[in-house]
Amino acid sequence: MHSEDVDSISPFLLMDHAAPRYFPPTQQKLGVGEHPHRGFETVTFAIKGEVEHRDSGGGGGTITTGGIQWMTAGSGVVHDEFHSREFSEKGGDFEMIQLWVNLTSKFKMTPPRYQSFAAINIYEINGPSQSQLEFPLPVGSNTLVFQLSGNSTLGNQTIDKGNLAILGRSGDSLNLELNEESKVMILNGEPLGEPVAAYGPFVMNTRQELMDAFKDFQEGKMGQLVDQPERV
Ligand code: MN
Repeated sequence: MHSEDVDSISPFLLMDHAAPRYFPPTQQKLGVGEHPHRGFETVTFAIKGEVEHRDSGGGGGTITTGGIQWMTAGSGVVHDEFHSREFSEKGGDFEMIQLWVNLTSKFKMTPPRYQSFAAINIYEINGPSQSQLEFPLPVGSNTLVFQLSGNSTLGNQTIDKGNLAILGRSGDSLNLELNEESKVMILNGEPLGEPVAAYGPFVMNTRQELMDAFKDFQEGKMGQLVDQPERV
């Protein structure tokens, strides 16, 4: 998901789904090396496998299957995101979702923050075949439905595995019919109603703020990662 029509998915900006895949055991570090962010939050769901994170704000940790990392980039962090060392060495099935959630102008420059949630603190929606799910929705909010497995029907639209449906904003409830045993992710949020100026790893309100973000990053103002010994 990466919509130019930012208003219909706000406060969400982007959803990156690493589809289920088996990784054989390796000594290599798999993932994304050091890079910056400013102005929003990254929320990473380890559906299967383990993700390791560390950032220049001092945040870091490993989440295991079912866990979530919630990183508020705020005024700016530099971070890296890898498969955990233990997972890499053992190998296994890996599936991940990373969401980018926008921050309002008031919080774009808030200090960086890192939180992790273990699977035990999370409610997932898993339903058997031919079941109906109904949720009330706040009026005027945006709702997205992502089908992780199975297949469902929303109104007269079928959502297949790996697909995302974006609901109109006028409804006050979500009625989802599961045609097969399914796992779905439902995202709901209040649209921010602010201009979005986004480029690469930065999401601000104005072009000038974007230019400031690049300058601050280049000048090292978003911090740096402390070097760790290489894996042996
Ligand atoms: Mn990142």
